[in-house]
Amino acid sequence: MTTTVETPAPTEETPRGPKPMLGEPRSTTAHITICAFVIIPTLVLIAAVPLAWGWGLSWVDIGLAVFFYYLSGLGVTIGFHRHFTHGSFKAKRPVRIGLAVAGMMAVQGSILHWVADHRRHHAFSDKEGDPHSPWLHGTTPWGLTKGFWHAHMGWTLNRDKTNAERFAPDLLADNDIKLVDKYFSLFTVATFVLPGVLGGLITWSWWGALTAFFWAGIVRVGFLHHVTWSTNSICHLIGDRPFKSKDKAANFWPLAILSFGESWHNLHHADPTSARHGVKRWQLDTSARIIWIFEKFGWVHSVRWPSEQRLARITVTEAAH
Ligand SMILES: [Zn+2]
Ligand SMILES: [Zn+2]
Repeated sequence: MTTTVETPAPTEETPRGPKPMLGEPRSTTAHITICAFVIIPTLVLIAAVPLAWGWGLSWVDIGLAVFFYYLSGLGVTIGFHRHFTHGSFKAKRPVRIGLAVAGMMAVQGSILHWVADHRRHHAFSDKEGDPHSPWLHGTTPWGLTKGFWHAHMGWTLNRDKTNAERFAPDLLADNDIKLVDKYFSLFTVATFVLPGVLGGLITWSWWGALTAFFWAGIVRVGFLHHVTWSTNSICHLIGDRPFKSKDKAANFWPLAILSFGESWHNLHHADPTSARHGVKRWQLDTSARIIWIFEKFGWVHSVRWPSEQRLARITVTEAAH
């Protein structure tokens, strides 16, 4: 018996082969702006925090910093990552828009670029084409140091831009998301200014506005940047690998709380559409817990929760050790 393999006819979407991996490189203005928003909060974290510790830090600043850390951080983990990139659940329209806006407040690039970059990361994970693998500079100590720097922060200073037409056509076809994406600069300003305004109003002073802007604005954005980037750098280098993934993704428990469950990264690469990354009872995963609450409220549905069968299929067996 012979089997005929039919070659699919080219459609309008795939005229001749796949679309290129990279789009037009960033303009010089965009490049300089992005570098500034990557480097300045980091420098503030490194230099100003030790100097300013104990100076001008009030409970109002701490409260606002925690609030905006959770708002923007969960916008990235639940929204940009689990919902928009991987479709691990479906959401009602206002929730979807809310998640997109909250994610934009993290200053990690616009939603279209974030999703396109991250889907490229999964498509080429730890191989040529991955935008932020720590393994592409060799395995010598120097190669891994270079790799760590590239995976953590260096890649954000690169002018390459992932082609959203290839990696995020679904979002490009979504008018709500395109509109949110268009106002990236507005949300960037808001994420720094809002804490300042709230701090000023709560303390009814300019000084309160300034310290809230500093701690809950710049320092919070810088800190969240490094936690998110650690998933790309640390969680592809060290940790446990109890699940079968085709790359070096690892579970790194010390970052579980700060990363809202994203540091259970080995499970994530083994089963990218799972809504829960910390699948074991004791593996804290704040993002999954909040998705669960949203589900109870009926705000999200079709959540892809891990099942025993799914986990058994991806678990590394003793024989494979
Ligand atoms: Zn990864
Ligand atoms: Zn992912």
